[in-house]
Amino acid sequence: MIENIIPPELAARLADLYDRMAGAYDLVAAELAFSCESCDDNCCDSFFLHHTLIEWAYLWQGLGELPEEDLRRVRARAERYLAEAAAAMARGEHPRSMCPLNEEGLCALYRHRLMICRMHGVPARITRPDGKAMQFPGCFRCQELTAGMARTPEVDRTGLYRELAGLEQELVAATGRGRTRIKMSIAEMIVAGPPRR
Ligand code: SF4
Ligand code: SF4
Repeated sequence: MIENIIPPELAARLADLYDRMAGAYDLVAAELAFSCESCDDNCCDSFFLHHTLIEWAYLWQGLGELPEEDLRRVRARAERYLAEAAAAMARGEHPRSMCPLNEEGLCALYRHRLMICRMHGVPARITRPDGKAMQFPGCFRCQELTAGMARTPEVDRTGLYRELAGLEQELVAATGRGRTRIKMSIAEMIVAGPPRR
């Protein structure tokens, strides 16, 4: 069994928050009659970096439940992803490789996918702790849909992000790790193994 630093109670609260993120997304998607169905693109090849210990640990909770052979396969794909990303960056390009958790177009770890996987697509806004407001127009397909709309429905991510930051603080305090800056792709999280105390 793979040891994990995330206490079950905190994992349950993160799962609940993740559900509410997906719920907020679904409401806006429904209002826009927007879905990913029959999209030629697949956002799982977008290069995202993630910043929380708790998401890394929760991802590993899911990875830890995979049969050994599946985990080996995922790790091999993650190593390949990192090599491709490094080569792209060396060429001065933005990495664009399929996420190592994507299998035949679907997420192999759906319940444990990260926050941005649940939020990307529809328009959103956030008010940062310094009061600065930021807006996200949604993916290219959603932008086509909302072009010319007088009022665009959007997810307000502010409270959801704040809650995630709170859970992160609780985990950092529980592990006694001290605050460390995390900036990792999913592939890096996989190759690095589960976070340690
Ligand atoms: S979020 Fe947008 S670009 Fe990504 S798969 Fe869905 S419809 Fe396509
Ligand atoms: S974790 Fe799942 S949903 Fe997120 S990018 Fe990877 S395959 Fe896609």
